[in-house]
Amino acid sequence: MPDLPALRPGMIIGILGGGQLGRMLAMAAAELGLSCHVYCPDPKSPAFAVAAARTIAPYDDESALAAFAGAVDLVTFEFENIPVGTVRFLEGRVAVLPGSGALEPAQDRLAEKQLISGLGIPVAPFAEVSRQADIYSALARTGRPAILKTRRMGYDGKGQALIRAGDDPVAAWRAIGEVPAVLEGHIAFEREISVILARGRDGATAAFDVTENVHEAGILARSSVPAEVSAETAAEAVSIAARIAEAVGHVGVLAVEMFVATIGGRPKLIVNEIAPRVHNSGHWTGDAAVASQFEQHIRAIAGWPLGDAGRHSDAVMINLIGQAVDNWPALLAEPGTRVHLYGKSETLPGRKMGHYTRIRPRSRA
Ligand code: AMP
Repeated sequence: MPDLPALRPGMIIGILGGGQLGRMLAMAAAELGLSCHVYCPDPKSPAFAVAAARTIAPYDDESALAAFAGAVDLVTFEFENIPVGTVRFLEGRVAVLPGSGALEPAQDRLAEKQLISGLGIPVAPFAEVSRQADIYSALARTGRPAILKTRRMGYDGKGQALIRAGDDPVAAWRAIGEVPAVLEGHIAFEREISVILARGRDGATAAFDVTENVHEAGILARSSVPAEVSAETAAEAVSIAARIAEAVGHVGVLAVEMFVATIGGRPKLIVNEIAPRVHNSGHWTGDAAVASQFEQHIRAIAGWPLGDAGRHSDAVMINLIGQAVDNWPALLAEPGTRVHLYGKSETLPGRKMGHYTRIRPRSRA
């Protein structure tokens, strides 16, 4: 991006999306002397409380988008289901990082799998299911158990149905709403890990230590560092993430979620999905790394040198989902614990309301 001047303190970053990730990005930007203008259709967006300016408008409102583009120096996004048309419209008026090229494959589970497997990186066996009848040939490819996932708009385990031995596959097709889907073989993994990697405009990369993740009901429950993987597996995981970031020309933070499975007596990494943004499994970095994932994202898109991704402590990050947030007074009293509350107006089951990180002295690399 040689023709795009680096940002200077005092400039304004536009953020598409107003959730907790946008909120934490805006706080990190403020620490670096930048301010943020958050664009989100939801008037109750938690990011608004910490942003210098806001636009409340739908993602297809071209006059609101044009005004937003004119009011900011650079645009980024905090969630990958921003319509790609919105990003393209803005790209005609202002720099958007990461760009639509990095966003597009992450919006479609089929395109994502094709991209990653095309790079020679292992993914679960998969097949496209665009009509009910496709499901039988797809099952022949994947075997059972398999998971039918909607191609688009899936997150936190939504839009997924498991097909076990003996299950009627048509029931899974109905359960996901009879929409274009991808069928994936179920991986009997030993653990789940993620790599949170920042890539600068100049192609430089910095990865945080590999994170180990536990999901409950498809939602991330807990992330911990260090992960219980060998140094070779960790290095391989980081190299996979860097190859994906490079292939899509990503600028900013990229998260790559992977399964660790034992195949032929050896650990094997299988990529599950990518998120072209800061990620829940990287929240520990705000409490146990020198520069947080939010700071890294801001530095990368601003055209600034990446920060130090080194981990100074061991950490376990636990999400406060739904009513679990009511425990905040006890957590505040816990030594060695940092509490983050997202300021959401309504507590709903399955909704991420906050998180806390238990920090301990660093045990090993
Ligand atoms: P996803 O929305 O694709 O990230 O899926 C949410 C969670 O469901 C993952 O983090 C895994 O715990 C589980 N999962 C998804 N796909 C698979 C798979 N192919 N094999 C085993 N578990 C899976």
